[in-house]
Amino acid sequence: MVDQSKGGASRKRRPDLDTVYSINTDGSRNVIHPADVRGRWQVLKSLVFPLLIMIYALMPWIRMGNHPLIHVDLQGRAAYLFGLTFTNQDFYLMFFVLTGIGFGLFVVTAVWGRIFCGYICPQTVFMEGVFRKLERFIEGPRIARIRRNLGPMTANKVMRKILKHVLTLAGSSLIAHIFLSYFLPVRELLHAVWEDPGNHMSAFGWTTFWTLILYFDYSWFREQTCIVICPYGRLQSTLIDEDTIIIGYDEQRGEPRHKGTSEGGDCVDCFRCVEVCPTGIDIRNGLQLECVGCANCIDACDEIMTKIGKPMGLVRYDSQRSFRGEARKRLLRPRFFIYAFMGLLGLTVAVLSIGSRESFHANALRARGMPYVIEGERIRNLVTLHIQNKNDHPNTYLIKMSGQAISDLDVIIPQSALRLDGLSDGQAPVFLYLGREDFEGPFPIHITVTDSLSGRSIQLEVTFRGP
Ligand code: SF4
Ligand code: SF4
Repeated sequence: MVDQSKGGASRKRRPDLDTVYSINTDGSRNVIHPADVRGRWQVLKSLVFPLLIMIYALMPWIRMGNHPLIHVDLQGRAAYLFGLTFTNQDFYLMFFVLTGIGFGLFVVTAVWGRIFCGYICPQTVFMEGVFRKLERFIEGPRIARIRRNLGPMTANKVMRKILKHVLTLAGSSLIAHIFLSYFLPVRELLHAVWEDPGNHMSAFGWTTFWTLILYFDYSWFREQTCIVICPYGRLQSTLIDEDTIIIGYDEQRGEPRHKGTSEGGDCVDCFRCVEVCPTGIDIRNGLQLECVGCANCIDACDEIMTKIGKPMGLVRYDSQRSFRGEARKRLLRPRFFIYAFMGLLGLTVAVLSIGSRESFHANALRARGMPYVIEGERIRNLVTLHIQNKNDHPNTYLIKMSGQAISDLDVIIPQSALRLDGLSDGQAPVFLYLGREDFEGPFPIHITVTDSLSGRSIQLEVTFRGP
């Protein structure tokens, strides 16, 4: 491995447990050039990555009801998820949904370690499935890339670098547009891009911003996102235990390492597992925070073992307990059940809350600092109803008193049927009058708001006040 921090000066440096290999001791960047690798886990990734990219890109195109499968309408303060409509009033539900998903991820991590990082995370999917491939295609395999980077600036080198960066920028822009299509309906987005960019400056600004962020990430920052920024990467060490399936090196079988002799363990110290690692670590040093679970080192070592006629699996998926030679404990252990219980609890509450959600929201407010007004011999209370239509189609809401506490109470509802557009809200005043001699103290009033389509009602209680 070569330290390239000093403009081409090279000196040997090995990955260790005390330093981050992708950062030099002087704080500069040690660019990692992972080698190509073939094997069964690469085959799996070559199937999973395109499939996931297709799902990310197509989701905003697929419609359920009148809206895309997933769409967040920031301007309209609404979100559409798999045929359901959520308004800002339903925002609390996100807490339960995120709790469910979060603990679901904890369960997966407790059982299979960083499988999400290696196969599903968009950072990995686009980095390894698109941009790393692009780089290899333009700049060649690892050794060619390293030599060219350390070599003089030639026309060939400049052309390759320009081509790589132009394509990386174009790819970043495409991903930024895919990202934006979750917030702007696809037709509007296409119209904004092709026909009327001048009238969509905020969309243009956001896309440019994300294009630059993604370009910075995929062209330079790369594995540092996983090592330095990603909170899940930092959290995972607290989620796993000795029975979690991780990627590890079988020390008992591999040690003592040796080169070219028939004595010692199975590890021939070829460094192939280190060369293919996208974060530059040596898996033989044990489980490390920088390991993103990509399985490159498994395939690399299996290839070597096959060549030297030894069984595959010196580097493999297994539990730390098994690597120590102890009997494997059950996969279903207390932390699995605790995380699963918390996840299911969150999702159950979310599902029940979504199921029992009203299709509209109503509340009653009175003018602040003016609980009542004296008009001659009468007391007047003014209550303003706020009604929000959570459907994406127009609807009418019927307002009426429900049960009258005092027979002499005069109720005037100027708008007893309030028509609201889809996902909009409106107000309706309710005037309440009572003779001064009839007022014996504050008493409750009930007003019912009914959805004319579904027939569902919300009953509101306000207090009639007087002197
Ligand atoms: S140690 Fe192996 S699994 Fe972990 S990041 Fe490196 S190559 Fe991938
Ligand atoms: S690839 Fe396998 S044999 Fe080669 S150094 Fe890594 S663990 Fe040892």
